[in-house]
Amino acid sequence: MIDNKELLEQFRQFIWQNKTANAIELSIETVDWNGSEPRLTYQVVKMLPHDANEQQIEAAMQDLCANSNYFAICAICKKPELAGRMYDEYLCQSCAKSQ
Ligand SMILES: [Zn+2]
Repeated sequence: MIDNKELLEQFRQFIWQNKTANAIELSIETVDWNGSEPRLTYQVVKMLPHDANEQQIEAAMQDLCANSNYFAICAICKKPELAGRMYDEYLCQSCAKSQ
């Protein structure tokens, strides 16, 4: 559980809103490690009714930001990062390399 407000704000940059005819989709960037090169893809992680209001969308966004399955914070540089891009549970790639 992540409860630092400033960091939660920063996670928003990784969340994409897409309105379709039937729903509002919230997607996050994920990294697909299958294959030779890691590939950036988008995964729909939350569907809201197409007529969801601002508060409902906001609540869903905050919910996602607090989900450590999707986002992480590096223990050393304190940078917000996608969980899928982390070196491990605690370190981002660049900090892991400089260790
Ligand atoms: Zn780091």
